[in-house]
Amino acid sequence: ELTRGLEVVEFATGIPHLLKGEFSANVGRGIDTHSVMQPLGVVAGITPFNFPAMVPMWMFPIALACGNTFVLKPSEKDPSLSIRLAELLQQAGLPDGVFNVVQGDKEAVDILLRDPRIQAVSFVGSTPIAQYIYEVGSAHGKRVQALGGAKNHALIMPDADIEMTANALLGAAFGAAGERCMALSVAVTIDDAVADAIVNNLKPKVAALRIGPGVLPEGQKENDMGPLISKPHLEKVSGYVDQGVAAGATLVVDGRNYKVAGHENGYFIGGSLFDHVTTEMSIYQEEIFGPVLCVVRAKDYASAMKLINDHQYGNGSAIFTSDGDAARQYSQDVQAGMVGINVPIPVPIAYHCFGGWKASIFGALNVYGPDGVRFYTRMKTITSRWPNHNVREQGAAFSMPTL
Ligand code: NAD
Repeated sequence: ELTRGLEVVEFATGIPHLLKGEFSANVGRGIDTHSVMQPLGVVAGITPFNFPAMVPMWMFPIALACGNTFVLKPSEKDPSLSIRLAELLQQAGLPDGVFNVVQGDKEAVDILLRDPRIQAVSFVGSTPIAQYIYEVGSAHGKRVQALGGAKNHALIMPDADIEMTANALLGAAFGAAGERCMALSVAVTIDDAVADAIVNNLKPKVAALRIGPGVLPEGQKENDMGPLISKPHLEKVSGYVDQGVAAGATLVVDGRNYKVAGHENGYFIGGSLFDHVTTEMSIYQEEIFGPVLCVVRAKDYASAMKLINDHQYGNGSAIFTSDGDAARQYSQDVQAGMVGINVPIPVPIAYHCFGGWKASIFGALNVYGPDGVRFYTRMKTITSRWPNHNVREQGAAFSMPTL
């Protein structure tokens, strides 16, 4: 998480190159045009509980490097890291007032959305709130980029490498306990033998996930999954597993009622694996944001593609195959903003842009990369000429200058 955030800081250190603007000589006789990208003023970032360092770092390094001041409103569920970021920036010599932290929940957000001093709002969180932020912020004249939730599909082709694919699914579905917007939560197969092989490969691995506290004594092997963020979220995720069972999906591994010795009151849950999930089930339609992987068996490539593209979310997606042409076709056809080819979590590096499609984003520009620079600046285009004898002899001009 920190490394990913620091990559954006590194990207932002190249800001003179990114703010160079454009220049055209002789657009009319003796006339030159150039553009400059100027800061917006005060901009705000509203961030989710997962990745409390990385998500703010998708935003403020570029916003500050572009010349803005920044107000961060972190999640009320893990607010303290934002203060640490402020301390570090202060130690690094940032003047007071350039990076600011406001704590709170909806009440604080609503003030930021309406404050006329704030020019732009970056938001990352769930889709209903992203849509709200986009609508209210826009109605108050602000530039808004609002990233929402996800349900990321993996398409497993008949020629996929089973061991590599199963391991990729394991890490991508259950890492961060599924609490990440790029978690691969649906595996779509088009060949029953491949589906059986994937499920059989995953079953013992999901059951054997190491689950426990994130902070361990030095030298002790890291756990694969920590607890969920809160009791209500644990109940929500567990409730989705109940719904999947009630709807008739096959629960291959049941992660409910998981207890970690010595942490019996912790919000832990085991990994759950569902097979034979169908598209009308809530476990398929909704974002669970927990360690639950659903296997959907489609009959062929076309129907797999259709169900993936019909889903309301379009954040990330991945294809597992040994066929370059199939991979190329998939990356053309799939309606998702970030695509992996045998790469389960295709989070773009800092000098590309991060963002989904459909209900996974509201607003025209993605976060970080060149879009980050576009979002936190506005362009000014300057057309100039200097006195000379041609200009003097022309006299008054009553039309716009043309080539
Ligand atoms: P959330 O939407 O509950 O909260 C996000 C932010 O919005 C927080 O700062 C919160 O205080 C604020 N907020 C919450 N309710 C609000 C309301 N009614 N009015 C105004 N502001 C409100 O999200 P979360 O539970 O903290 O994070 C998980 C969600 O974030 C998941 O849906 C996940 O997919 C999404 N997420 C998306 C991305 C992405 O890049 N697309 C990245 C990380 C997380």
